[in-house]
Amino acid sequence: MARGRRQANRSPGTVFRRAGFAVGLLGSGAVAVGLYEPGSDFPGLALILAGLVLVFSLLEMRQGGGDSPTDSSLFGTAGPLLWTVGVWIFFRGFGQVAPQLILLPVGLIGWLVISFPLQALLAPLVAVIAMEAGLWAFDFQETTGLAGNLAAYTAAGLGLSVFMSSKAYRQRMRKALIRAKRDTASRQYARDLGLFDETPGILNVLPDNDLIEDPEAGSQPAVATITAAFDLQLELIRQTLALSTVALLWPDPEGKEYRLRSIATTRKDIAPGPFEVGAGITGALMGAEELVSLAPATPSLGVPYYLKQIEVGGILAVRLPDDAEEWLGFDDKKIAPILCVDRPGQEPWSEKEKNIMTLAARKLALDVATSRQFQAMAHERSAIQRVCLAMRELNGALGLEQVLGATIKAVRTLVGADFISISLVCGNGHCVALAEGEGAEQLMGREFSREEGLVGQVLKINRPLPAKAQCHGPTQVFGHDHLLTGYNSLLVLPLQKEKGEATGALTVAVKAAEVFTKPRQEILELIAAQVAVKVDLGQAHEEINRLATIDGLTGLINHRTFQHGFDVMLVREERRAGALSLLLCDIDHFKKINDSYGHPFGDKVLKEVATILRKAARSVDLAGRYGGEEFVLVLEGSGERGGLQMAERIRQEIEKMVLHHESGPVRITLSLGLAVYPDHGTDKERLIRRADQALYRAKKQGRNRVVLWEEE
Ligand code: GH3
Ligand code: MG
Ligand code: MG
Repeated sequence: MARGRRQANRSPGTVFRRAGFAVGLLGSGAVAVGLYEPGSDFPGLALILAGLVLVFSLLEMRQGGGDSPTDSSLFGTAGPLLWTVGVWIFFRGFGQVAPQLILLPVGLIGWLVISFPLQALLAPLVAVIAMEAGLWAFDFQETTGLAGNLAAYTAAGLGLSVFMSSKAYRQRMRKALIRAKRDTASRQYARDLGLFDETPGILNVLPDNDLIEDPEAGSQPAVATITAAFDLQLELIRQTLALSTVALLWPDPEGKEYRLRSIATTRKDIAPGPFEVGAGITGALMGAEELVSLAPATPSLGVPYYLKQIEVGGILAVRLPDDAEEWLGFDDKKIAPILCVDRPGQEPWSEKEKNIMTLAARKLALDVATSRQFQAMAHERSAIQRVCLAMRELNGALGLEQVLGATIKAVRTLVGADFISISLVCGNGHCVALAEGEGAEQLMGREFSREEGLVGQVLKINRPLPAKAQCHGPTQVFGHDHLLTGYNSLLVLPLQKEKGEATGALTVAVKAAEVFTKPRQEILELIAAQVAVKVDLGQAHEEINRLATIDGLTGLINHRTFQHGFDVMLVREERRAGALSLLLCDIDHFKKINDSYGHPFGDKVLKEVATILRKAARSVDLAGRYGGEEFVLVLEGSGERGGLQMAERIRQEIEKMVLHHESGPVRITLSLGLAVYPDHGTDKERLIRRADQALYRAKKQGRNRVVLWEEE
């Protein structure tokens, strides 16, 4: 029990802060006696001391200052003191230009005044006055200099604090500081309590967006509830058993130290901790016993949470019970949480009191276990909500492009992926339909053979690869000339509807290792199955769209699409005051072709005519099948002359065309009617009617000709 004999409150944190405070005082003394004035006799010593001050300031900052909100000791102010002395050392070191640099300490004073409570400000302020006074006493500055500097600091402190202590600013600042401190403290406590250790359900492994990076976000409400429950129970025990203090000491997750998490006390000299594991009464509990009681208390087995070991008559400490260790996930009994109480009286602890303490310890453990379950449930619920939202978006997606976009989004709710791609089967191979991440641009739209890469294999065997969803070094995912590099977790999933063939593959790669846990992989498979259905529907949707706009036989746009397209072109032409040619064409004596050579040959003729018309049309023109053996052409920017020229060219090409039938060569001719916007009309119906009239006249005049509409 040698360790237990040590002073309990001398934990490493406290020792460090005391040392920091001492270094601060030493530094301020050194400044005061002129060690940092130019031409000092001990430059080496000055340098070492300056280095020490800097190191301690930085370490203190890393520790987050007084690491407990209950830290009210003088040593809690070591941080501000060190920074103050550091700035003065720097400031004095510049000698000649010090007057210009006075802004630096002036600013520091202002900052201290607005950011720290008065108590933390006191030590640095005393140090400042001591340093300035010392410099004056040792003749490093004139009386006027001293007065000037002190006046400047006072003015800056007052000025800045008046300026910044405008009510709104101060409140905002205070709130932000308190919030930041509370958040850090609550995260730490949540970690100690193991609120995030549970991994029960499949969905608990769902992190995401903010939670992937920060699984402890949102710990505050849970921690606040637990703290309130603990405080209440501790106070209840304290009053019931007439105790001085009831304290709950909780070990950190590594079991390195005990932290004072809740306390109900009548005493003022509470040490904030953390406390060494095994010191004082906590050491006595490291054996097999669950409860240790001392009356009268021996000084060697003191309670760790008092600054002075006085008025401690009897001590009773209970380890949170065995089964609780299981709930709380402690393998090592030695570092189980401890409920520790003391009272001034030295009378022995009764069985009843011991019993109450054991029950209380049980109840506290149970509270934490319940909280963890609640937390796990809340986590699950938010995960389910996220996946549901993503799935809903996926389900609502119609076109292929939308489906692919929604898929990537859904995957991202599940994994913080660095690379995602969706490959779809095309022809004999597979094409990258969408990719996001490093090198995605080069991959988009590329086609790969099924014989290469992981994707090809996945499409063949219809199972996810690689086996453990890990990858080591560059991996051939798509093809031999494209390697995915720098990822440690990789999963390629087939997009497969029930038992059918895979229609594609989903590739997800993450730089971090072991991301694809089994449950996560299972949900990804669910998403992939859903995506397979949606990709199928998306493709069908696009096909339906295509069928609705394109004529199946000739591949030209159909009548409905022509009507819409013509509307759009008229509006555009109206705006820029240009011209349009509308050509209606009708194959001459087509009935005879059908009758003589059969319908299939008639279809072939229609296709050939369509090809000639498609070639004649520029990308801005419209070429459509008007119906039966009638076609329509709208030429943008062509007036009467251009329209007539194009019509004549088409007529000649059709006339020249020779089609081959088994009974011999077949030739056809075409009649064309032309109406021009705006000469022959400005509205669609009139233009179509007039082009139709012109076509009728062409037929009447003997066919195989172009007729421009004109008034009769
Ligand atoms: P005209 O010179 O007066 O235009 O004589 P025509 O025989 O071409 O006139 P009509 O409009 O009477 O005949 C059109 C024929 O086109 C009737 C129909 O059988 C045929 N037809 C319409 N659509 C198709 C099709 O998709 N395939 C085939 N093979 N024939 C079609
Ligand atoms: Mg006809
Ligand atoms: Mg005809």
